[in-house]
Amino acid sequence: MLSDTEFDRITEEIFRFHTKRAPGIPIAVAMVDLARERLGPVKGRLNVIAESQACLSDVVQVMTGCTIGNRYLKILKDLGRYALTMFDRDTGIGVRVFVDFRKIDPVKTPELHKFFLRERGEAVERGGEAREASGRLIMVEFASIHRDLFGTQRVRVLQVGKPAMLPARVCPSCHESYLQRDDQHGQCDVCSGLSRYFEPFEG
Ligand SMILES: [Zn+2]
Repeated sequence: MLSDTEFDRITEEIFRFHTKRAPGIPIAVAMVDLARERLGPVKGRLNVIAESQACLSDVVQVMTGCTIGNRYLKILKDLGRYALTMFDRDTGIGVRVFVDFRKIDPVKTPELHKFFLRERGEAVERGGEAREASGRLIMVEFASIHRDLFGTQRVRVLQVGKPAMLPARVCPSCHESYLQRDDQHGQCDVCSGLSRYFEPFEG
């Protein structure tokens, strides 16, 4: 378990990386620390699956070196749960750490309770001082319960292994190289219109 000094140092480092003092960050630092401890050393390659695209994924990247770029971190953003699974990619065996909502006392830690229900109100939504004050309160409340917020489970991840490396092909329309999914995938998804996300703009 991280010492208080280490915990604070890492949290500050990730606040800078994330560019915001998001209250989810210290919560996620404690989650990654707990997951590492429960998992212990792994023989193969450490991988993480994050069930949210929120600040949790930035914490995983800084603390574990599993990143989106090296593909040791996978984000299942549509799940929207504040949870992560840390595992050995060679075996799929790992540990899942999640926020156990039943452990949040709405009387003792009311702001934390609202945070995970997204019920902090309009003033907080708008940002500014109300949001900062709420964030500080969440961190104080979290510090009072720390690991007692979480549940853990041993898991085996399904479909482990390296993601497939697709062959590259040059798109006949834009002349950029792209990764070809299959024989039918004859031009890039922007030129085919499947994933068009911009249009030419002059000015
Ligand atoms: Zn193209």
